[in-house]
Amino acid sequence: IMKLASRVSMIKPSPTLVITAKAGALRAEGRDIIDFGAGEPDFNTPDHIKMAAIHAVESNFTRYTPVGGIDELKDAIIGKLKRDNYLSYRRSEIIVSCGAKHTLFNLSQALFDEGDEVIIPSPYWVSYPDIVLLTGARPVIVETREENGFKMTPAELEAAITKNSKAVIINSPSNPTGCVYSKEELAALAEVVLHHQLIVVSDDIYEKIIYDDFPFWNITAVNPSLKDLTVVVNGISKAYAMTGWRIGYAAAPEFLIAAMAKIQSQSTSNPSSISQKAAVEALTGDQQIIAGMVAEFQKRRDYVVSTLESFDGISCLEPQGAFYVFPNVESLYGLRCGNKKILDSTTLAEYLLDEAEVAVVPGIAFGNDRHIRISYATSMALIEKGLERIRMALKRLS
Ligand code: PLP
Repeated sequence: IMKLASRVSMIKPSPTLVITAKAGALRAEGRDIIDFGAGEPDFNTPDHIKMAAIHAVESNFTRYTPVGGIDELKDAIIGKLKRDNYLSYRRSEIIVSCGAKHTLFNLSQALFDEGDEVIIPSPYWVSYPDIVLLTGARPVIVETREENGFKMTPAELEAAITKNSKAVIINSPSNPTGCVYSKEELAALAEVVLHHQLIVVSDDIYEKIIYDDFPFWNITAVNPSLKDLTVVVNGISKAYAMTGWRIGYAAAPEFLIAAMAKIQSQSTSNPSSISQKAAVEALTGDQQIIAGMVAEFQKRRDYVVSTLESFDGISCLEPQGAFYVFPNVESLYGLRCGNKKILDSTTLAEYLLDEAEVAVVPGIAFGNDRHIRISYATSMALIEKGLERIRMALKRLS
């Protein structure tokens, strides 16, 4: 009988994908499930981007490309980082991979060893701890406080640092909380990072999904002396509704990019040539399309936050970015409906799936068991219907 490698048991399957799969299975049985679990925009990829891909196919741009991406795309990324983030990089400091998740995987493989500690503020995106664990390094989880908008303070960061600390991951706007760090907050964190010479992994994937004109800042743009210590991670999945195209990228010091390219050369090789051409169009073409999507997300956010706030037992911070809310549901714990008792975020999510036919992700998946995550990357009609179902299901609890 085949015996699996021990690393398989070090990690778990992505819980958000598990919920989506479970909702899909129930739907296949004929149940009318509303999915608030999804982590992707419900919009279609804009037409001009699709046309660029069609053109790539028709002109036979269908062969291997350089491992780390074509120069045309690297130049588009360099232009974007300059235009949007006041950051200046050279081609040798850019790598394109098969999604930002792949970028994070490669940089972790290139940087982290057994014995290293990687600081991850909680609530965190589900994949960070597992990507770190696969390198043999130890994720060090820093609890942030809801009163601070789930943002890690310099003191909280300082307290987590040991002689083994190698890096800290910053994700702003955040999945799952939607919190966005201000320029001043990043400046204060940068002081701690510089003092301890930590590497900063800045996951900027939700940069464009931001509300009320809240300004987005990357920590290296705030404090340029961090440049040699920073890996900027970004991609096209969320901003351009291109999750399936699998393009992400990093900007970092040349030796790290070279190491990531070496790892990529022995695993995936280049990301899809066709997707790369589409990504060039996404980054250099009409940027107004993003504003249209964000305006729609903002309408939904406003509706979801105010509706949830009106429910007994739920309180909900207003997020400044991404397309999730992360309501506090702790005061529902201990309530029951018949033989179903709500004990934690997992039993609440199960109750909502069974009783309300609504899929949400338990907060424990993101390191916080007092909350659930609701994605509003779905139509207003489904949001209204789903929230009403949740309201009815909660009324049955006592
Ligand atoms: N980072 C965060 C915080 C995310 O939420 C996601 C996707 O859910 C990713 C990275 C990965 O995006 P992709 O691999 O589609 O580029």
